Amino acid sequence: MPRSTLRDRGCRGCQEIGGDWVELWQCLSCGWVACSDTSDHRHARAHYEETDHPRAGPLQAVRPLWCYVHGACCPVGTHRSLVTD
Ligand SMILES: [Zn+2]
Ligand SMILES: [Zn+2]
Ligand SMILES: [Zn+2]
Repeated sequence: MPRSTLRDRGCRGCQEIGGDWVELWQCLSCGWVACSDTSDHRHARAHYEETDHPRAGPLQAVRPLWCYVHGACCPVGTHRSLVTD
């Protein structure tokens, strides 16, 4: 993927500190894009800790979304009541 595309759709937290990321995740609640737990700065996790938005998943991969509440990938629908804000 071209670098410019990564920067268009990058982790804001990393961009601000000049860091880099391994993978981008998107918050299911608000659409916020941040770096995953496999990245150095784990901004997706920081977003969860700030907002209590429980679920996030890879932008470019088709696989279950990660759930911070349970520390696992929960089935779709598990957190319906939590993500309606
Ligand atoms: Zn980041
Ligand atoms: Zn969010
Ligand atoms: Zn869960």
